[in-house]
Amino acid sequence: MRADSKIKTENSKLARLVPLLLDWFAQNARDLPWRRTQDPYAIWISEIMLQQTQVKTVIPFWERWMKELPTITAAAQAPSAKVHKLWEGLGYYTRVRNLQKAAQQIVESGKRKTENGDAVCRFPEKFDEVLALPGIGRYTAGAICSIAFNQPTPILDGNVIRVLTRIFGIAENPKEKLTNARLWELAEALVGRAALCPSRRDEAAATCHCSHLNQSLMELGALVCTPRQAQCEICPVNKLCVAFKENRTEELPNLGKREAATARRFIAFVIEQRGRFLVRQRPAGVVNAHLWEFPNTETASAKPDARAMFKELFGIAPADIQPLCTVKHSITRYRITVEAFAIPGAALPRKAGAFWKTPAQVRQLALAAAHKKLASAAAKSILFHR
Ligand code: SF4
Repeated sequence: MRADSKIKTENSKLARLVPLLLDWFAQNARDLPWRRTQDPYAIWISEIMLQQTQVKTVIPFWERWMKELPTITAAAQAPSAKVHKLWEGLGYYTRVRNLQKAAQQIVESGKRKTENGDAVCRFPEKFDEVLALPGIGRYTAGAICSIAFNQPTPILDGNVIRVLTRIFGIAENPKEKLTNARLWELAEALVGRAALCPSRRDEAAATCHCSHLNQSLMELGALVCTPRQAQCEICPVNKLCVAFKENRTEELPNLGKREAATARRFIAFVIEQRGRFLVRQRPAGVVNAHLWEFPNTETASAKPDARAMFKELFGIAPADIQPLCTVKHSITRYRITVEAFAIPGAALPRKAGAFWKTPAQVRQLALAAAHKKLASAAAKSILFHR
């Protein structure tokens, strides 16, 4: 096919896709709490929480956050311990630290803009200003500007990549530079066309076509065009979809070979002394920075000697050491096993950076995911109730 004829065909396909996607979204959009607001702050929080995390997991976290910190100023001024606690369980804690940094920047720049020094905490509306905030990349800036301000800013995340590679039959790896640029172009062309779409008779005057078009791509990827067993029969765009027509749904997107998972093993010590537990806070600059945990150490051994490891860590052998529980979890490509041992009635010298806390105080801390499970195992264990 000649180049100009190919462009013509693609333009016509884009033009046909937009109303199909908008109609489908109007009838099938899930009622999510952040979809009931136009507040850019609330939408921003949802977008950050939704990175790497499923919608059903995010809902209670988002609701709790908005109740506790309903404004940008509240988020900027909250103690670090509070924002970490509100994020506890969501993982990828750099997100919450960047989020607070960005809120503080917005508050500061609001102060500079007023003569009397009263802060005007308005979330920026210009795409470049949103993009310049800590923790906000092209996808998130596009999502916020389109959803909150109905701007024709494209979005491209895992869901959108899947939908677009399938509809357009793109066989190259979406991570490759040229292919990625092409996908951004398609996403931009779609939302650009949505911006020009006239309102239909049944729509309210203030239609949000850019917002809805972008959300329709995300929603289609989440509900219909799923990674496995896409529901092509009920898909609103199946007549235009190359993957469906050519039976290539299973092979697209072509994500290349997955990096092999790496197993890591830790030995943790839940140490009790007169009804208090020894915990420490992870330092800045490491995974799960600022979160709390029970003392632990990594081991490469398949049969680690917990007693010897305890002695190496604390300089004395434990009088009593009992298996408590084993927790397994995954972070990115790491498959982590934490084997915990209970050390009841320990007589330990004070160790720098570690603190004795009552069970109630431990519950108030933002704990790393595996250590939250250790805390609840400790609370239930008869070893600490003898
Ligand atoms: S027809 Fe199937 S493969 Fe194509 S976009 Fe719809 S769900 Fe995805």
